[in-house]
Amino acid sequence: MKRRALAVTLPLLLMALALLGANALITPARADEADAPALAAVAQAGANTAEWTVEQMDFTSRYPQGFVFTLRATSSGGEIVSARVEWMHRPHTRAKEPISVRRATGEIDPNTGLITATWEPTQSTAVPPWVGVYYRWRLRDAAGNEFVTDEGYAEYADTSRPWQRTETDEVIVFANGLSDEMGDLVAAAMDAQRQKYLDGWGQALPYRPRVILFGDMETWLEWQIGHQDTTGLGIVRVGVTSDEWGGTVQVIYGTEEELAYGTVLHEIEHLYQREFLAGRTVFTPGWFIEGDASFYQLDDVHRVATDYVADLVRRGDLPVLLQGEGPVTFGRNALHGYYLGYKFFEYLDRQWGIAIHRQIMDLLVQNMPFTEAIETATGQSVLELERAWREWLGAPGVVPTLIPTWTPLPFLASPTPMQFGSGK
Ligand SMILES: [Zn+2]
Repeated sequence: MKRRALAVTLPLLLMALALLGANALITPARADEADAPALAAVAQAGANTAEWTVEQMDFTSRYPQGFVFTLRATSSGGEIVSARVEWMHRPHTRAKEPISVRRATGEIDPNTGLITATWEPTQSTAVPPWVGVYYRWRLRDAAGNEFVTDEGYAEYADTSRPWQRTETDEVIVFANGLSDEMGDLVAAAMDAQRQKYLDGWGQALPYRPRVILFGDMETWLEWQIGHQDTTGLGIVRVGVTSDEWGGTVQVIYGTEEELAYGTVLHEIEHLYQREFLAGRTVFTPGWFIEGDASFYQLDDVHRVATDYVADLVRRGDLPVLLQGEGPVTFGRNALHGYYLGYKFFEYLDRQWGIAIHRQIMDLLVQNMPFTEAIETATGQSVLELERAWREWLGAPGVVPTLIPTWTPLPFLASPTPMQFGSGK
């Protein structure tokens, strides 16, 4: 009895893509939306002259211990000799950039014909409750005919405790151990920023993100198999945002308003970045990514960032933004990156309106080098822009020139420098 669940990383997925033919992985995710033609193409690709019948296709959540897929199917070509289930935790919305696919081999009961595939989480593969499961089976019969089922949809449900579920056109919210208003707060926050997301990107996220919120630490840790207790180090992970399952999970540590209007809106902007910049392979500074996400918060970020940066200006400590890698987003000065980035986005917005956000992102989507994208969109050199930004902040407009040390060659630039937070 051998069971295997495999999280496919990029190189593996590209290999799989080559082996299986593109259709296998770029079919639309919702079974009810024009899925049939793509599936037909897949079935033909696998050489099929048989008549296939799916009698039963089920999914059972065993949260937090994983889930089970079951299938009853027949082929006129003979016995089914091989079965494998493949699933994703979000709709497949990207034509070019792959999304992680997981797989498990089906066991075929020789007596009943029932096919079963089980997935159990490990430390590196665990997913939170309430992620979506978009799955399909690949079957082969004794004559070598191949078949791919329609896509099934389920959720990794946690039925062991009460969850509040709130759905709008833009978001699906799950909340446990929080007030009855939690879901409505997130819905209202998303509604309040709807236009800004649209204007900033030119379109909405092509899927509805899941926001999964926990009111207590014990429940939050339950799904994180083998988690390390880091409280002694003064670090506690309170959130994860994932493009792989299209959502964010957070445990509350402030007020519910802060969670909804601060953290959630911030993390949703990270999902936009991940979705639309998925194909970007050239350097994007961490402060830009975090400043942008902070720019989408509707809590007291404006006051906090303004005070923080004003203090740096007063002390004569305003770091250089647009040369080199700029302020950091980690370590002791992590907030430099967040708040200087925020003030930079605020400045852009004051000068050019939200349209500049979209222009810059459009250029980044096209893989334009970061500095070039900023200069193209604003029509200013980064030195001019930085000087004006510094003056706007009340700092001397003289931009400290960084001592030229080592200039990385373009092909040595780190391939995935964007930092997407655990936490924020
Ligand atoms: Zn962030």
